[in-house]
Amino acid sequence: MLEVRNLRKVYGEEPGGYVALEGISIDIAAGEFLCLLGPSGCGKSTLLNILAGFEEVSAGSVMFDGRPVKGADRDRMMFFQDAGSALLPWLTVEENVRFALRARRVPRSQWDDIITRYLSMVDLNNHRTKFPAELSGGMRQRLQIARALAVEPRVLLMDEPFAALDAMIRRRMHAILTDIWQRSGQTIVFVTHDIAEAIALADRIAIMSVGPCSSFMKIMDVKGAR
Ligand code: ADP
Ligand code: ADP
Repeated sequence: MLEVRNLRKVYGEEPGGYVALEGISIDIAAGEFLCLLGPSGCGKSTLLNILAGFEEVSAGSVMFDGRPVKGADRDRMMFFQDAGSALLPWLTVEENVRFALRARRVPRSQWDDIITRYLSMVDLNNHRTKFPAELSGGMRQRLQIARALAVEPRVLLMDEPFAALDAMIRRRMHAILTDIWQRSGQTIVFVTHDIAEAIALADRIAIMSVGPCSSFMKIMDVKGAR
């Protein structure tokens, strides 16, 4: 579904610019859970931002269903970054999800079902009429995940979404995300520098090297390793 070919990304003017990515190629299949794993500065976020259409490539190509990615494709791809921010404080739990569904033009007739389904998955269905300020930190995180996933984008791009969470809540989030992914058939590309997190979540792990990334070090199939 996503095809990355010989990708090169240089920040600044060539020559003399900073080569963040060079010779990156990968095919991402519909429904797979791919982790991009590597140390800070290796270009993970750059690659994710290119997949999202936020950044231009310097050379090479990124195709989505056979067409070049040009600009952000908000209807099909969803970029999910800091799980801790951006709930709308003046809206209740259910209104926050409804707002996202409306913004993504999900048909109104489906809203009730979707809201109930996703809030139940994250154990918030009994808190529908509360405001974010009345929730615990973990509940807010779960609401954010439910809201992001409820719009069921075909591709979900996640950049260290759980990095700020404590270990207990992070494990809970992993279980919820895995559950939702298995039910929805969405394609997920998940950036992390944490090997344990990559192994806990991924079908495949693309390992990027220290420093500017020149091709993947290894693409590992870990399906069934969980
Ligand atoms: P990672 O996500 O693996 O930590 P990034 O993709 O954020 O890595 O960054 C890769 C390299 O590119 C880093 O050295 C970073 O400083 C550089 N970089 C990222 N964004 C920019 C930018 N907008 N301008 C210049 N350099 C950048
Ligand atoms: P919408 O209004 O459609 O919900 P936003 O503008 O709020 O979209 O962006 C949705 C997500 O995409 C946010 O998490 C935001 O951080 C991220 N995002 C948007 N533009 C960029 C960008 N240029 N670079 C990185 N992230 C971006």
